[in-house]
Amino acid sequence: MSESVTVVRCPTCQTPVRWEAGSRYRPFCSERCKLIDLGQWAEESFRMPAVESDEWGELGSRE
Ligand SMILES: [Zn+2]
Repeated sequence: MSESVTVVRCPTCQTPVRWEAGSRYRPFCSERCKLIDLGQWAEESFRMPAVESDEWGELGSRE
């Protein structure tokens, strides 16, 4: 019998992580990497483009 264990790489630090019940933070290797990844994700969502308003431009160019 051959026991095959799925191994994935931690998205944060690329460390091989065994995909098993014992790997609590899979696909991350540790809670730290999980938090780092979530943090980056949250940061990106914070960087949404600001809503640009033409209001001021219109006020400045009246006919
Ligand atoms: Zn990691």
